[in-house]
Amino acid sequence: MKYVVVTGGGMSGLGKGVTSSSVGVLLQACGLRVTCIKIDPYLNIDAGTMSPFEHGEVFVLQDGGEADLDLGNYERFLDVTLTSDNNITTGKINRTVMEKERRGAYLGKTVQVVPHVTDEIQDWIQRVAHAPDVCVIELGGTVGDIESCPFVEALAELSYRVGDFCLIHVSHVPVLSAVGEQKTKPTQHSVRTLRSLGLAPNILACRSNSPLEGYAREKLARSCHVSSGSVLSLHDVGKNVWRVPILLRDQKAHEAVLRVLNLDVKEPDLKEW
Ligand code: ADP
Repeated sequence: MKYVVVTGGGMSGLGKGVTSSSVGVLLQACGLRVTCIKIDPYLNIDAGTMSPFEHGEVFVLQDGGEADLDLGNYERFLDVTLTSDNNITTGKINRTVMEKERRGAYLGKTVQVVPHVTDEIQDWIQRVAHAPDVCVIELGGTVGDIESCPFVEALAELSYRVGDFCLIHVSHVPVLSAVGEQKTKPTQHSVRTLRSLGLAPNILACRSNSPLEGYAREKLARSCHVSSGSVLSLHDVGKNVWRVPILLRDQKAHEAVLRVLNLDVKEPDLKEW
């Protein structure tokens, strides 16, 4: 089993969900079997009790699980059927750990975030991911959030546990209108935060209004220690986000991912897309 993890830096709403689904589509089009996991670092067990005014609509899975709309995106993009286990929340992890503690499963040990919560997260991921070839994991929220720390630590440990692990970091590349150039500092800072938490990006997906300029790509590659071919432009495609897989294919995102995962590079067949 190989893993692609998608994190986000700077702010929410950048397009982690769309990026995760689109990378999944590309890998599927390369002939791989793909599943997805969404991590929501909130204490609710699931989205079922959350106000749609605050959280947006709830997506109901075939097994009755109530989840974030991202799960609906994965199902539509990838044509897969997911279950409530494909949505991990802090609430679900904590409940499992607490139930085990009451059963005495920790054999008298002091129950701690590391290793008990982080092991539970990794075990959950590996249990859900065991059958397909690649599991795409989207970490909700923004790296550096207090809520997501146990998940970031668990993913850093997982990268050592499993080996074939590709991290895509989505971040914002704004243009200051008075200066008129694409600014790379917010991405540099969020990559620094990510590294300080034990994760290093293999690929940067840069969300911007217009295509990423050459100078910005070179600067990001150098300062974030990735090759310039691994800096992807995730510029605005308007309302039709179904174009994002093509946008990524045209930049050979699949090659960058397949190389990190030690898989043969293939051309994706997106004829029907
Ligand atoms: P996140 O998971 O980071 O919160 P989403 O994937 O849910 O972000 O995307 C937030 C919004 O931005 C959605 O409405 C999505 O359709 C839109 N979006 C994402 N990527 C793009 C893009 N490249 N061009 C235009 N809209 C996009």
